[in-house]
Amino acid sequence: MRQIFFTFDSLKILQKLLGIVNKFPHRSWIEVDFERLEANVRNIKASLPEGVKYVCVVKADAYGHCMPQALVRFLKGGADIFAVANLYEASRVREIVSDKPVLVLSPILRQERNLVFEYGATPAVSSYNEAKAFSEMARERGKVLGIHIKLDTGMGRVGIWHANADEVIMQIKKLPNVKITGIFSHLSSADSDIEYTKQQVEIFKSVVQKHADNDMLIHLHNSAGLRYISVEKPFNAVRMGLLQYGINPHDDCGGYENLNLKPVLAFKSRIISIAEADGRKIASVCAGYADGVPSGFTSEACVLVGGKRCQIVGNVSLDECIINIENAPDAEVGDEVVFIGEQGDGEISLADYSRWTRRIPWETMVAIPRRVDRILK
Ligand SMILES: *Cc1c(COP(=O)(O)O)cnc(C)c1O
Repeated sequence: MRQIFFTFDSLKILQKLLGIVNKFPHRSWIEVDFERLEANVRNIKASLPEGVKYVCVVKADAYGHCMPQALVRFLKGGADIFAVANLYEASRVREIVSDKPVLVLSPILRQERNLVFEYGATPAVSSYNEAKAFSEMARERGKVLGIHIKLDTGMGRVGIWHANADEVIMQIKKLPNVKITGIFSHLSSADSDIEYTKQQVEIFKSVVQKHADNDMLIHLHNSAGLRYISVEKPFNAVRMGLLQYGINPHDDCGGYENLNLKPVLAFKSRIISIAEADGRKIASVCAGYADGVPSGFTSEACVLVGGKRCQIVGNVSLDECIINIENAPDAEVGDEVVFIGEQGDGEISLADYSRWTRRIPWETMVAIPRRVDRILK
């Protein structure tokens, strides 16, 4: 399947390069504004103290924004290191970026360990045994492998539990063919529980204080944490995901005004028929749950037609959904419908759309399937 996806992507890129016009007009599509993406990264990076490294999180196809093309913009915007979830994604980054570290955030399967060497990736290590296995593999290859230590400071999932960290890190340091080039931890609820997050910060600092040396990258900030955890010693890197795509992880949507972030992604479709039902004028839109429009909208949910808000009504089907177009009486078949983005004087934010669909913004971004065209601006 992955091969097929890759071929599909390459074909699209090739078509774009050669200027071949797709004979199928777009029915439902997302627009990715790469100028904005690049500007967002540049602005975030510029807000960091001198010397702090920018770890650019590009997992899940750059949160659904088309990773290969996005990578070029991330590089221009100043990304220093790329972070992915797994080795397949690392291999995709390596097709485009050869001279930057690629950090694999999620645990690596035993069967995948050799691929770390093949793609020059940096694994995040969560146990002594894992580090030992990597050390042995590196020795067989006559190498020393750089690894990052993943600490669990309260997420309670993966990583070396902080209370055991001293001992485990000391043991890992004795292994001959791995070198700890970074220590990090993930904040479990930086967008919702600030007190808990502050405890995680203190726990992290106390472990790092004993083990960090000058060559190590020490990183804890995600997008939500950047709002209120100051980027100062011992931190010398931040990991940015959601924020670089122009979306505020906090529900109140405040706190990043200085960064002047702009949303990168728009999601659009078209009216395919108009009818009257129970005395109301309604339209059918050619995007259903197979296009990533989930069933189970709240009653506030609406789209834009002619810049005006129109409520989504009835059940979403596989290929279509229905809207009430009384606010847009001039609407015609073929007109553009905006689920996320700007149109005329109207705008629907990704945050609103996410709330109406009972999703978090991260989910919205990655839930728009391949059936929906990608227009890369
Ligand atoms: C996905 C991920 C991030 C990025 O998080 P955002 O909230 O999108 O900024 C950072 N660190 C780790 C370990 C992750 O898995």
